[in-house]
Amino acid sequence: MSINPAITTAATAEAGTRNRRTRETRRPTWIPRAWFAKGNYYALAGRSPFTRLIYPVPEPGGLGVHLTLDLAGQARFGPDVEWLDVESPDAIDYAVDPARSAAFYAAIRRYWPGLKDGALAPAYSGVRPKLQGPGEPASDFMLQGPEAHGIAGLVNLYGIESPGLTASPAIAAEVVRRLGL
Ligand SMILES: Cc1cc2nc3c(=O)[nH]c(=O)nc-3n(C[C@H](O)[C@H](O)[C@H](O)COP(=O)(O)OP(=O)(O)OC[C@H]3O[C@@H](n4cnc5c(N)ncnc54)[C@H](O)[C@@H]3O)c2cc1C
Repeated sequence: MSINPAITTAATAEAGTRNRRTRETRRPTWIPRAWFAKGNYYALAGRSPFTRLIYPVPEPGGLGVHLTLDLAGQARFGPDVEWLDVESPDAIDYAVDPARSAAFYAAIRRYWPGLKDGALAPAYSGVRPKLQGPGEPASDFMLQGPEAHGIAGLVNLYGIESPGLTASPAIAAEVVRRLGL
């Protein structure tokens, strides 16, 4: 079987699930199990005293609760690592649980002891699609070409979590190479 023009699937969080639904008509062995690790962010009320990003030492599953600034200078802290007990992205609840604020205050005060009580508010969340579960060593990104699934012209991408955005030009170049374009 071949596909023309070439196709790349990069549905990220949806990928494992979508392909799992078709696995009776394709090869089940292509499809890695997806684990989901939610990353919550909290926003700092008022003006940020910082003008640069702050990165603590990474934690298992993520980069640690770091400080990012948006284009308006608003400070946000995150993401943390909250492993989700769901099989499908349809079951993900993206709401940020206010009960996680205590852990955020503790993490941020390790590098900013002056953070005042009441200064943080739940902001937003994202979910990292992972190829490894809690406690397992970090996996690399998975790029599957015809050698994995037997379909010429198809490249599937799995587990494109952070730093997937930063790595996207390199991933695109590798996909183009594998497709022989
Ligand atoms: C909390 C968090 C922090 C991150 N921080 C960083 C960072 O600092 N630096 C960095 O480089 N990366 C970071 N990342 C990772 C980065 O966001 C991802 O690597 C990147 O978004 C992956 O891009 P993508 O196009 O593969 O997937 P996505 O951006 O998830 O896009 C997948 C698209 O496919 C669509 N889709 C799904 N199913 C279907 C379907 N059946 N049909 C059609 N479309 C479909 C979805 O709607 C979506 O638009 C972070 C991720 C998270 C969750």
